[in-house]
Amino acid sequence: MSIVPLSEARHRVCVYCASSNACDPVYREVARRLGGLLAEAGCTIVYGGGRAGSMGTLADGALAKGGRVIGIIPRFMRELEWGHEELTELHVVEDMRTRKHEMLTRASAVVALAGGCGTFEELLEAITLKRLGLFLGPVVIVNTGGYYDPLLEQFARAIDGRFMDSRHGAMWQVVREPEEVVPALESAPSWDSRSIEFAALR
Ligand code: AMP
Repeated sequence: MSIVPLSEARHRVCVYCASSNACDPVYREVARRLGGLLAEAGCTIVYGGGRAGSMGTLADGALAKGGRVIGIIPRFMRELEWGHEELTELHVVEDMRTRKHEMLTRASAVVALAGGCGTFEELLEAITLKRLGLFLGPVVIVNTGGYYDPLLEQFARAIDGRFMDSRHGAMWQVVREPEEVVPALESAPSWDSRSIEFAALR
């Protein structure tokens, strides 16, 4: 497998992360650090446009470093005043599906921080689309304090059980700290639409 050209892999990074303000504050600090690091690396961040939890600190961290942050938020959340109003751009869409689709189609890479069911859904959809060759960018999972160990074990189990191919294990990279994210985006193995040939196991 060849290496993805840097500019393509790094340029527009979709970040999935928690809306919770109740979890350990370490997760919000990791998000703030990641926002700053992506901004310093010249990346545009695409995310869900919220101001709560890690979503808010991610955006604040990037904006504080002069970064460009694009939020995509469903209308009902904006009406509930859940939107972050200081972003570079805040796009209001009709529903959650459109939001998820917009976030991914605007992105050339995905990063997942710790989160709840919303983050899981977004991360798993990105990986599912990558398996089918419909999203080709790097997917980096930030495994803060081993938060994602059970999910990574489940992926290994799916591969062991032949629900997924061993080649599918190359679809995501796992790092421990936000400082490792940009290098992981730079060095992620390339993926192309020929992955459809081994998407379904025979
Ligand atoms: P979770 O990881 O379950 O906190 O979900 C994060 C995702 O849930 C976000 O990307 C949104 O889709 C959605 N979400 C849930 N609550 C909020 C909120 N207060 N503000 C913005 N997005 C939210």
